This record gives sequence, structure tokens and C-alpha cells, in this order.
Amino acid sequence: MRERFWETKSLEELNDEEWEALCDGCAQCCRLRFRESDNDQVVTTTLVCAQLDLTTRRCTNYPKRHELVPDCVELTPETARSFDWLPETCAYRRVAEGRPLEDWHPLISGTSETVRRAGVSVSDQVISAANVHPDDIASNILKWV
Ligand code: SF4
Ligand code: SF4
Repeated sequence: MRERFWETKSLEELNDEEWEALCDGCAQCCRLRFRESDNDQVVTTTLVCAQLDLTTRRCTNYPKRHELVPDCVELTPETARSFDWLPETCAYRRVAEGRPLEDWHPLISGTSETVRRAGVSVSDQVISAANVHPDDIASNILKWV
């Protein structure tokens, strides 16, 4: 990877290694969300996908994620620009909008621990949907966007 590649390349120009490295591992995109039909507003929950390892904040079945979880959305340069529910801190969103990465991003800090310390990861904010009965999902909704 070229040093500070995200400052000189567009999302379309990233190779596979650079694309994967750009993810800060916050796992905010793995939270369960719904779009309300009456006002198009996105509501998010305090639940994360059952496939997420809450300790590492990584998908436990990344290569098969779309098979296992049909609602798992694919992030591409195009969707990084159009998904209004991605957090402001998401590295793909920031690069797509021409904004710099924060100092806590692992590509700059050299460790994923800074993501947790910065308070932007799902750590300590969520519980796994694997541990919640479907009837109780509504009680875990909170307004976010
Ligand atoms: S929100 Fe963005 S930076 Fe965070 S885990 Fe998802 S894709 Fe990666
Ligand atoms: S399948 Fe994996 S990448 Fe997709 S939402 Fe679930 S944990 Fe996240």
C-alpha cells in the first residue's frame, strides 16, 4: 500500500488491499436499522448483526456475508456516496466527501484500539441480535439519523 494512499486516490482508484484497509472497524454499519415508510427516516437500534464478533468488531463470515445475511449491504464507491445512514465518521464516507481521516483511524494511529478509545465503535453500545428475541427488537430502537 502506498503511504497515505487515501489522500491521493479516489475510492474508485483503491486496490482491494487499500479498500479493506480503509475500513476503521467501527462496525457501526453492522447495526440493525430500519427506514420508516411514512417519513423515510432511518431509525437505528442498539442491536448489531448476529454475525458480528463484538470483541474484534469483525464479521465472523465476511466472505459469505451476503449469503448469510441478505440485508447486509455492499459498500462500493457509489453507495459510500449515497447511503445517508453511514456514520459521519465512516472512512469511506469521509474519503468520498473529500474529508481527511481522523487521527484515531488505525491507518494513522497504527492500532484499532484508538477507534474504541475515540468512542466511535459499537463497543459498549450494542448487544448482538443473536441474543434478542425478534419480538423485542422494537424496544431497542433509538433515533439516530
Ligand atoms: S461504518 Fe464505515 S468505517 Fe465503520 S465499519 Fe462500517 S464501513 Fe468500516
Ligand atoms: S453479515 Fe457481517 S458485514 Fe454484514 S452486517 Fe452482519 S456482521 Fe456486518
